[in-house]
Amino acid sequence: MTQVRNDSAILDAVVVGAGFGGLYAVKRLTDAGFAVQAFEAGDGVGGTWYWNRYPGARVDLECWDYSYSFSPELQDEWDWPERYPTSSELMKYLNHVADRFELRRHIRFNTRVETAVFDERENLWIVTTSDGKVTRARFFVPATGVLSVPKPPEIAGLDSFKGESYHTGRWPHHEVDFSNKRVGVIGTGSSGIQVIQALAGQCRHLSVFQRTAVYVVPAKNHPLTPAMRARVRATYTERRAVSRLTRFGIAVPFPVESALDATPEERSRKYENAWENSQLLGFRMCYGDILSNEAANETVAEFIRGKIRDTVRKPDVAEKLMPRGFPFGTKRPCLGDTYYSVYNRDDVTLVDLKQTPIERVVPEGIETSEGLHELDVLIYATGYDALTGALTHIDVRGVNGRKLTDKWASGAKTYIGLMTSGFPNLFTVTGPGSPGPLANMSMSIEQHIDWIAACMTYLRNNAIERIDAVPQAEEDWMQHVQDVVSNTLYLKANSWYIGANVPGKPHVFLPYLGGHGTYRRKCDEIAAAGYPGFVLSRATAREASQASSNEAIHVAEAGLMGGAV
Ligand code: NAP
Repeated sequence: MTQVRNDSAILDAVVVGAGFGGLYAVKRLTDAGFAVQAFEAGDGVGGTWYWNRYPGARVDLECWDYSYSFSPELQDEWDWPERYPTSSELMKYLNHVADRFELRRHIRFNTRVETAVFDERENLWIVTTSDGKVTRARFFVPATGVLSVPKPPEIAGLDSFKGESYHTGRWPHHEVDFSNKRVGVIGTGSSGIQVIQALAGQCRHLSVFQRTAVYVVPAKNHPLTPAMRARVRATYTERRAVSRLTRFGIAVPFPVESALDATPEERSRKYENAWENSQLLGFRMCYGDILSNEAANETVAEFIRGKIRDTVRKPDVAEKLMPRGFPFGTKRPCLGDTYYSVYNRDDVTLVDLKQTPIERVVPEGIETSEGLHELDVLIYATGYDALTGALTHIDVRGVNGRKLTDKWASGAKTYIGLMTSGFPNLFTVTGPGSPGPLANMSMSIEQHIDWIAACMTYLRNNAIERIDAVPQAEEDWMQHVQDVVSNTLYLKANSWYIGANVPGKPHVFLPYLGGHGTYRRKCDEIAAAGYPGFVLSRATAREASQASSNEAIHVAEAGLMGGAV
């Protein structure tokens, strides 16, 4: 049997990123006895939250769900101050995690991974970083996040603006002074909604440039008292256990009843309750067919439009704010407690780009078809090259030097969201083909990293050098991802789930909609069965060629298909 190599210059794994995913990868893999080096482009931990420090930035899942579950001690000792933590609170938490579990010594900060090339003779990833160094490792684990490469808008003249300009996803680490300034925000997704709410009343004038109106439901954020925290802690274990089996990775039941079987009064009662006691999934949990039946969906959409009518005093502005043309929930709904009422202020203007499109950015501000909006500060809340952007920004090359960008040119493909064939020993984290952003991200991350760590341990214990996805298994999985989404309304929206927000990106729905619990079970079954759908190889290519005189033995050892040989 081939021996596992013992070369101290060769690490077990290179991890990319020090956000939720990277930190947990370092923790879990080092606990399993692997030698790990992580690289992080920023000068501290935090990932998404390191870059997203714009005014109003906070997560849209409740803190007891959007946090690590791997350590009961961590869970018990950390006191979240509010239902939805701010970006700075999440940064404190992630810094605490890095310190408590002594993770920083494994992370090189201010260091960007530039290339990752698979050496197929040695089964090693050769990783070069922005400091000019080269690191060799058996496994490559890019925990680069699904929303980490900001996408600037395609508008002429961006560089000509003479005021300050910022993208929400690359917010500066210094204070930005908005007082007495005319501020423009382009974009009304989750980031735009938050920044708009935070800046209304804090600047001389706020102009919101809206291309597509979105559904915004109340966050009902509030401070947490010790009694509230104690209540959650008392049932934390059960709560997490249930969450692991559910569709969205949080402990909420998913109903089966149709909205269309209910009377208008019953629906209205449920929707009022969802509005008043809301959380991100509130409306989707009212009935089982909100995301699959257009007529059912429209009942929610119309309810929310009614709330906009009730809140916004100027009917023409209310009309512009009403989302139309895509079903509720098929773009991620936004949370906001004051969003719609912001437009009752005299110092806030809504510019509807459908009626008066932006023509160009000029030194003084933004020129639309109706004239110039003079601005001192311009904020781009224009989203991300989501799901694939962070990985394809690294020059990744697999077997035969094939570039990942070439392989994914007509759409990203993975087998169960964890590996992409032709790129052995590379594990993706919450990427294409996994439920990732359609479930509780922190729980998705833990599930992925736990699976990866268990897989690496299995390979080590069985002296297996290399694992790769079987191309047909990958095709079948991606077909399954498409089959599942085609039974829903998600394809009716031009969302970042489908790559529609990035010009030239293939339009393929990438997240797996089968649900977190179902997906977890599938991944566990594959591991328990010895990894069907993967090719596992014992010898390196170099060893196999050296042993050509005794080829039969090595061919058998080098070609374990799903561990079945
Ligand atoms: P987004 O949802 O992609 O929204 C981008 C916005 O910019 C859209 O309104 C888009 O309009 C607009 N836009 C893009 N290019 C434009 C152009 N050239 N001209 C005019 N408008 C343009 O991005 P995001 O708000 O950053 O949110 C992305 C995801 O991050 C969210 O869905 C969520 O998952 C996550 N997020 C979560 C939180 C939270 O936890 N609370 C906060 C922020 C972000 P169109 O719709 O017309 O394309």
